[in-house]
Amino acid sequence: MNTTQEIMDLSRKIAWEEVSRECVFTCKCGKLLTGFHEAHCGKFQKAVDVRQRFVLRDAGFYKEPKNIEQVKVNLKTSDEERAQMAKQI
Ligand SMILES: [Zn+2]
Repeated sequence: MNTTQEIMDLSRKIAWEEVSRECVFTCKCGKLLTGFHEAHCGKFQKAVDVRQRFVLRDAGFYKEPKNIEQVKVNLKTSDEERAQMAKQI
């Protein structure tokens, strides 16, 4: 897997988890939220797409000159921080 693909996968995972956490029981569309629903709901996926752009921006993905390795490190760090915060709650 190349680095850009890794960055896309990781940022999508982070974005997906964030949107999922915001919709504890009810999806963006108002239906009951389940893992199956998340994967098939257009509104949920759209929300993940939008969030992913913010996650990428925060990691420096749109900065020029692009430092793809640094973006990857930033994403991994933020993913670990999130996991830590989730444990503390
Ligand atoms: Zn939905």
